[in-house]
Amino acid sequence: MKTHQKKQQNYRIQVDMEQSLQPERSDAFSFDAINASITGRTPTARYLSDIQTIFADQMACHTLLAQNPLLYCVTQIEDHNDEGDLHYGLAVLMPGKVGREYFMTKGHIHAWRPAAEVYIGLRGRGMMLLEDERTGECRAVPLAANSTVYVPGYTAHRTINVGDEPLVYWGVLSSAAGHDYGAVAERNFRLVVVEQDGQPVVMERTDFLAELVEAAA
Ligand code: ZN
Repeated sequence: MKTHQKKQQNYRIQVDMEQSLQPERSDAFSFDAINASITGRTPTARYLSDIQTIFADQMACHTLLAQNPLLYCVTQIEDHNDEGDLHYGLAVLMPGKVGREYFMTKGHIHAWRPAAEVYIGLRGRGMMLLEDERTGECRAVPLAANSTVYVPGYTAHRTINVGDEPLVYWGVLSSAAGHDYGAVAERNFRLVVVEQDGQPVVMERTDFLAELVEAAA
């Protein structure tokens, strides 16, 4: 048993050395799970002004646009593009709200509809909306540190930060999947995640919009 452990340790050291000697390789990265940075890669930032139309409370959105907060950053690694290859990305979604609605991503469905995706939570407390394009069924599932979410094919997905610290996660998917933002932007998601008495609740968008109208009257 002891001999076996020793062998494993030696092997690990060898592998690490090999990677450190070849920093230009694009198949080995180091990343920071606290601020979601990947060494040698540049993130893409999304501010409120980039995705303002997705939020239900447009009055609150206009007020917050004066500050135009950073909502999220994504660093995509799309180095391998042959048949069977994978793309993956590290994202950080900031805590905060537009009115009562929590900060969230724009959301998308894969251009190649059957492509599934795995999300792996590293930090924070969030949720994902999963909406099946074929049936219209929409559900909310937790995505948090030390948890995973499987996004099946034909399913639009959006990430929401319902906690008070940044939500950090990986997404891993087929290199052939592609991103279709237009389909989601046109109809948005059927459900919203909003704060009620200090807690996140999932509501039908139409019901939440009705509440907003009522509150403004
Ligand atoms: Zn995706």
